[in-house]
Amino acid sequence: MKNNERARIFDIQGFSVHDGPGGRTLIFFKGCPLRCVWCCNPEGVNPYREVMYKSLQCQKCYNCVGKCSQKAISINGSTGLILFDRSICKECDTFECVEACYNGALGITGKDYSIDELMHKIERDRRFWGKGGGVTLGGGEVLQQYKFASRLLERCHANYINTAIETSAYAPWSHLQGVLKNTDWVFVDIKCMDSDIHSKVTGVPNRLILENIKRMAAKNRNYRLIPRIPIIPGINDDNKNIFETVEFLKRVNLFEINILPFHRLGTSKYEQLGLEYAFAEMESPETDVMERIRDLFEAYDIRCYVGSDTPF
Ligand code: SF4
Ligand code: SF4
Repeated sequence: MKNNERARIFDIQGFSVHDGPGGRTLIFFKGCPLRCVWCCNPEGVNPYREVMYKSLQCQKCYNCVGKCSQKAISINGSTGLILFDRSICKECDTFECVEACYNGALGITGKDYSIDELMHKIERDRRFWGKGGGVTLGGGEVLQQYKFASRLLERCHANYINTAIETSAYAPWSHLQGVLKNTDWVFVDIKCMDSDIHSKVTGVPNRLILENIKRMAAKNRNYRLIPRIPIIPGINDDNKNIFETVEFLKRVNLFEINILPFHRLGTSKYEQLGLEYAFAEMESPETDVMERIRDLFEAYDIRCYVGSDTPF
């Protein structure tokens, strides 16, 4: 971010009942250092704003084609749909194409907000949260914009608002530390214990993440720390990975975990961004797989919650 006083956000969801106690307002920060092959929020990966194309809404009027001064748009000869050359259409400042589309087929993902603007939205939702509710910052990766996130969390606490973050913990400890000062709940992903597999499926090794979890798990913390595993068939659902996770959790004195079944709800967003989705055909894990994993954790006295509703 050039201007540290604004954060780039790709989604704000009011009235969620996931990712923290009570009702929540979820704020999704754009930009992520990982490249998880199963990612369900591809529009949160790149830090820059991007155009999204809903081909089903396209009327093939071609108003947009001539409007792009970068000449990034062409017409697919066989389907008549438009094509974006994403090597040119990158970090656009003007989004002339979006303005030219009157049919709602083009949109922009990513919008910059000041803290005051976000607080205004947060306060608007407040009366709907119920007991214990509050704000959860996720992404993308919230730590990519850690200075802004720290200040936003501080403002929330100054206004007696419960706070949570959802993070990969792939960031320098000093960045995480500032954010933790005003955080009540931390959901942190442990995607896979084998660092080679981790590198292959997320683009980064897991050492920094595990070190940060160990540091976050230190006694006298001011937040509740809940590790999470997104259960991805064929990648981290085997007993070996679960046993290694158990060993790690015991070593760092953590005794609860949240497991989330893979879903492919992000498929249409890949299409809108012109990206291939390797997991487009992948089924969610069956209930018996989730139960097997839950039972393994519980056999080792680690409370295991299935899905994103965590007991408070
Ligand atoms: S977003 Fe910008 S660069 Fe991309 S096609 Fe539209 S006008 Fe061109
Ligand atoms: S302006 Fe909109 S509706 Fe027309 S061709 Fe472009 S994307 Fe399709």
